[in-house]
Amino acid sequence: MAVIVQKYGGTSVGSVERIKIVAQHIKDTKEKGNKVIAIVSAMSGETDRLINISKELSSAPSEREMDLLLSSGERVSSALVAIRLNSIGTKAIAMTGRQCGIVTDSVHTKARIRTINVDELKKHLDNDEVIIVAGFQGISETNGDVTTLGRGGSDTTAVAIAAAVKADVCEIYTDVDGIYTADPRVVKNAKKLDKISYCEMMELASLGAKVLQIRSVEFGMKYNVPIMVVSSFTFNPGTLVTKEDENMEKILVSGVAHDKNQVRLKISNVKDSPGMASKIFNTIAKNNINVDVIVQNVSNENNTTDISFTVTKEDADKAYNLLQNLAKEVKSGDVSINKDIAKVSIVGVGMRAHPGVASTMFEALAKEGINIRAISTSEIKVSCIIDEKYTELAVRALHDAFGLGE
Ligand code: ADP
Ligand code: ASP
Ligand code: MG
Repeated sequence: MAVIVQKYGGTSVGSVERIKIVAQHIKDTKEKGNKVIAIVSAMSGETDRLINISKELSSAPSEREMDLLLSSGERVSSALVAIRLNSIGTKAIAMTGRQCGIVTDSVHTKARIRTINVDELKKHLDNDEVIIVAGFQGISETNGDVTTLGRGGSDTTAVAIAAAVKADVCEIYTDVDGIYTADPRVVKNAKKLDKISYCEMMELASLGAKVLQIRSVEFGMKYNVPIMVVSSFTFNPGTLVTKEDENMEKILVSGVAHDKNQVRLKISNVKDSPGMASKIFNTIAKNNINVDVIVQNVSNENNTTDISFTVTKEDADKAYNLLQNLAKEVKSGDVSINKDIAKVSIVGVGMRAHPGVASTMFEALAKEGINIRAISTSEIKVSCIIDEKYTELAVRALHDAFGLGE
């Protein structure tokens, strides 16, 4: 008897009709002789709706209460799917993050899963029930408060549970047929991949391909969980995220990703002396803000320099306020913020062995007249910060330049 973990995203459970289809698919999977745990997201648009209401009530809603608020969306859909399953003759139980033993750290709105106590899950599986888990949530290890795992966090709930119960596969049901060479909504001739390595998918996810949340891929890689991305609209064969193999290395670039959820902050005229960068980035890190592309300019004649870096839009105001306080403290110049930027990136394990990939990328952007504002690289990716208005143009140009299309 196989243990199958399935995850259904927001659009997959976005209406009564969709919930009926999903429940039927869970029932069919069970009736093929499998044990099934299904993780569900909030119905599409619900998380945004709740965020918008909170913003009407406060410019900086408390993060603890945001977690309690947002976790409700997933609870609603888990209960609805279980209600439907019971009504069509499949024994099902809906559970919250707390009820299925998910303990996280205490960083509200972007908590990380620490442990999963699988006793309750196992008890219900042994009782021949299907379990419908409310995704994206757990409880804090310090005081039992509800926490959430960051946008897209139900993917991580699913893969973490799959690892904890040693499931045979974790199937991620979504609104696209699999993982493509670029977001298929932006690049019409993007190609579906049959397989992709954990490393490449991790980079793509961290660079904006929101089809999987990055932490879910990290869990998959760490615990060797095969992740299958499938459409809940067509149920066609999807994309397997798995260990790297020799064939994958032959491909120079596997995909192009873009991320408009970026903001660039700059602190100017910082004294160019040891310890300055450490002071700035320590303060940012202590406030649980992740920093991305960092650029420090060469120092000018006054022996001062400008430091800029990117953060996500969600963290922008918090980071801006912190920088302004820092600027006073270290007697630097102004702090500025640019919200009209985006990051475009190319990813591929084949890059390790092939020089010249970055120059092809820069040339393709130059041909379209797109200015590069900052660059960052790793072994298997190159990212450029550009003006947001050129994002789609840049993605298509890069997709063509590396011959990725159908
Ligand atoms: P869900 O609600 O099921 O979690 P998401 O909206 O989080 O779904 O993720 C699916 C979306 O990811 C797709 O609709 C697609 O637009 C986007 N996406 C971005 N990059 C890619 C890619 N390389 N391959 C497939 N989908 C991608
Ligand atoms: N509902 C949450 C979100 O919209 C989590 C998820 O869908 O995975 O980000
Ligand atoms: Mg998602």
